[in-house]
Amino acid sequence: MIKYKIYLLFLFSPLIGQAQESERPKLVVGIVVDQMRWDFLQRFSARYAPDGGFKRMMNKGYNCENTMISHVPTYTACGHAGIYTGSVPSIHGITGNDWFDNESGDFVYCTADSSVSTVGGQTVAGKMSPRNLLTSTICDELKLATNLKSKTIGLALKDRGGILSVGHNANAAFWYDPATGQWITSSYYLKAIPTWVTDFNNQKLVDKYYSGGWNTLYPVTTYVQSTNDENNSEIKTFGKSFPYNLSAYTGVNYNMILATPFGNTLTTEFAKSSIENEKLGEDSITDFLAISYSSPDYIGHAFGPNSIEIEDTYLRLDAELGAFFDYLDLKIGKDQYLVFLSSDHGVAHVPEFMKNNKMPAGNLNMNSLIDAMNSGLKKEFDVNNLVITMINHQVVLNTMLIESRSKLSVNKIKNWLIRFLLKQEAVQHAFSLEDLKNTTLNETQKKMISNGYYPKRSGHIYVILKPQWIEDHESGGTTHGTWNPYNAHIPLLWYGWKIKPGSTSREIYMTDIAPTLAALLKIQVPNGSVGKAIIEITR
Ligand code: ZN
Ligand code: ZN
Repeated sequence: MIKYKIYLLFLFSPLIGQAQESERPKLVVGIVVDQMRWDFLQRFSARYAPDGGFKRMMNKGYNCENTMISHVPTYTACGHAGIYTGSVPSIHGITGNDWFDNESGDFVYCTADSSVSTVGGQTVAGKMSPRNLLTSTICDELKLATNLKSKTIGLALKDRGGILSVGHNANAAFWYDPATGQWITSSYYLKAIPTWVTDFNNQKLVDKYYSGGWNTLYPVTTYVQSTNDENNSEIKTFGKSFPYNLSAYTGVNYNMILATPFGNTLTTEFAKSSIENEKLGEDSITDFLAISYSSPDYIGHAFGPNSIEIEDTYLRLDAELGAFFDYLDLKIGKDQYLVFLSSDHGVAHVPEFMKNNKMPAGNLNMNSLIDAMNSGLKKEFDVNNLVITMINHQVVLNTMLIESRSKLSVNKIKNWLIRFLLKQEAVQHAFSLEDLKNTTLNETQKKMISNGYYPKRSGHIYVILKPQWIEDHESGGTTHGTWNPYNAHIPLLWYGWKIKPGSTSREIYMTDIAPTLAALLKIQVPNGSVGKAIIEITR
């Protein structure tokens, strides 16, 4: 009788049922904030709400304070691919947002695919797929681990943000068509746009956001972390200063939403709609939702990281993420979902802002440099257009032309170019990528450049600019792409299922994110991964 009672006790014990269910979380939510510098977690923290997104993740989750990108260029496509594959461009093949393909002799956009068509719209914005990505993602591996039963969905305003996160065998990736204001996908994923996406598009949320305009969340004078609104370092996209009236764009321009915080709002609303309608996290098989917030990148390029526009964007995103976690608590259940938040790259300060504050900085005009290289080479070798372009900080030589002229020596051309480049004020180092191992570069730079080098999709001479020198943007705004810590130091926060509160200042890499997810989910690591699981984050 006693034995029987004990047996019954076990049979109906809720603990046993829970232990089995919690082998894996119901839902994994990956959040990438495009262009989020690590220091934004600290600089704006005084006004992040205790129940907002960032402080909730920092206080109740695990904070990897010293997470670095280990590749160049620090661009969107390589960053999203890096996070989700645990790999680097030399292996996953995404060497930039765009690159020059040395085999075809053509420029390639990272996710362009002429063999597929737009689904959910009439423009060419949907002719996209992950075909140029050479390795699997953590989402692909989750599908393989569950005999394709897991649902995986990627979404972002930018096509590459959604596609390169979720990978090859996804249920779908969705992105925003700025020509029409609609969320779309490609025939690579789906034959028809789901009804719920059409219904979402028909709400015309962008017009609604435009009608509200963009004013600061708090009185503008309280933005003490940022440069005064009227300055000479920003591209004044919407007018001289806050509040910005956006009503003129209603019904006519669906592009401008990208550079406002309402692009994030639109993304969160679409994420919630995809959870509801695709029934993510509803059954016991783990699903994966990969969300990328693209708007912070557009805002950052125009206004720079020390602008009120950026501070306001992060205060708003903090509140929105807090509400989104409340929603997930209700919908999926507290501790039943796992979230990580990171970034694809950071950004440089606006050079003009740095100079105004006695810091070394500068702008390099890329087109003038390309013209100067070609005219110098013409004088020296009597051949036009020996340089095709400069892309991803690499000079691409016209190798077909060079090989067709028996008098031309590729080494002589390279040596001339290196001598020429080293004379430029903006340039710190220039060297042939084939000679990378023989350079005297610092090991950090050498490793990042080596990780970014995939010969079929890379140039021939690498150019390292001085710190805080950026290409173009002479009339304001800024960019990213180089090896420097302001581009390479990214936030990495973990929260939810099995994550313990804590933090580490140990050096961790972007490539460690996917192996950590693989370890937590007990699934195979993506097939090009070079990272290591961050073992200290779990209970
Ligand atoms: Zn980006
Ligand atoms: Zn960018």
